[in-house]
Amino acid sequence: MTAYNLAGFLEDSAARHPERTAIVFGELRLSYAQTDAAANQVANLLTGAGVRPGDKVALSMPNLPYFTFAYYGILKAGATVVPLNVLLKPRELAYHLADSGASAYIAFEGTPELPIGAYAREAAGEVDGVELFVVDPARELPWAGRTPVFETVVTDEDDTAVILYTSGTTGRPKGAELRHRNMRDNVLIDEALFGASVERPDTFLCVLPLFHSFGQTVVQNGALAYGGTIVMLPRFEPAAALKAMLAEEVTFFGGVPTMYWALLGALDGSVDVEALARNLRVAVSGGSALPREVHRAFRERFGVTILEGYGLSETSPVAAFSVLGQEPRPGSIGVPVPGVEMRLLDGDGSEVTGGTDAIGEIAVKGHNVMKGYYRRPEATAEVLSEDGWFRTGDLGRRDADGYYYIVDRAKDMIIRGGFNVYPREIEELLMEHPAVSLVAVIGVPHPSHGEEIKAVVVRRAGVEVTGDELVEWAKERLAAYKYPRVVEFADALPMTSTGKILKREIG
Ligand code: AMP
Repeated sequence: MTAYNLAGFLEDSAARHPERTAIVFGELRLSYAQTDAAANQVANLLTGAGVRPGDKVALSMPNLPYFTFAYYGILKAGATVVPLNVLLKPRELAYHLADSGASAYIAFEGTPELPIGAYAREAAGEVDGVELFVVDPARELPWAGRTPVFETVVTDEDDTAVILYTSGTTGRPKGAELRHRNMRDNVLIDEALFGASVERPDTFLCVLPLFHSFGQTVVQNGALAYGGTIVMLPRFEPAAALKAMLAEEVTFFGGVPTMYWALLGALDGSVDVEALARNLRVAVSGGSALPREVHRAFRERFGVTILEGYGLSETSPVAAFSVLGQEPRPGSIGVPVPGVEMRLLDGDGSEVTGGTDAIGEIAVKGHNVMKGYYRRPEATAEVLSEDGWFRTGDLGRRDADGYYYIVDRAKDMIIRGGFNVYPREIEELLMEHPAVSLVAVIGVPHPSHGEEIKAVVVRRAGVEVTGDELVEWAKERLAAYKYPRVVEFADALPMTSTGKILKREIG
């Protein structure tokens, strides 16, 4: 039994430097003292409504300061935060409320285009025992008038701080239960990962959705723990992001690869890249593979080497990371982070043999691994062994120096005529073609080969290319069993709000 509450990140920083700016949102600048006081008001609202330690409180909130108030308020009350994707529809919301057993639910009113509040009301009406609080900036806030002082509930470090819903490799969304210490330790490694320090706090651009683990741990909690400033934007829009980076002298950018791509694309003559580059100290990419071309182009324009991280919701999320101060190895996710071990496993769970060419499923063990999937012992047992190894569902390999490389998701592997084909390798190649802006390679059924390789390509504006030309181009550069036989063009690819291409939706 070790007492610890993740809310300590905000409270300790508020005690150290109450007047420092914690959150910038448009014209609004909130100090640490104000942010902590607002979180206390939320905690008072919840406990007043009967929320008890260990209860689950759902949260549907875009990137707004209210997200941070609610998140830390829920933690202070000793309850578990259940952040939900803001794009979910009423049926999906009801599923998440029921599955998590939420007793309270804080939701944003939303906009006519995204009526989160209306969806939340419908969902909460379908599930028993959920008290809904809607945050509508045009009205009085649900916690208005509550005392801005609260005695944080003492929790155990092994209690569940957050439940993050993820589809994992299969099936309906499952809630990954993350302990207070899982979430804490994933932030304490920031010192080693990118030199985070209380003495020289960073200014973070916050464009990653906060309901997802990457934005939540690396940006929100990482900033608050080290006394940094969070510059919040409600959504990612490259021109607005660049403007905010300049105006607020942003030193830390965290994003998924498509955001980097979009930022580079928005650098026209009017953007003072030199000023941006002078301020920018750290750039972190994760969530999906960073194409080499993006890595190269970003370094050329900003003079900053993107650090690539790898992880999952189930691993709080960071599991591997580039090594600070070392030249990154192209295509590598770096090495396991301090306190975390990695292995490559074959189908029956033993370590692969065969040296640096051997491909296996990446397994992770350490302080970052979740408790399990909430109320799903069977699903948990499938991925988490008794001795603490978590199977990620990602295929990888390791070089002679211990650097890991993601080959692909196990489920994305294509088997063509008995050969294993990893779409990512073909996507990386096609991205080098000057006419290709974005690409997804998938397997489609084929009568004799089992599967055939198909590339769905988004063309770069103003550059002409035919499908046959791309097939020919790939054929010259890839083994016969690997090059795509079919190329289809699309205007855009379906994508999650965290930058992953939804391959299931591409046919
Ligand atoms: P999520 O739980 O939404 O964070 O998704 C986790 C998945 O994202 C992992 O299982 C990987 O498939 C993918 N992923 C995360 N980081 C990387 C990376 N650096 N390179 C390739 N795939 C990644």
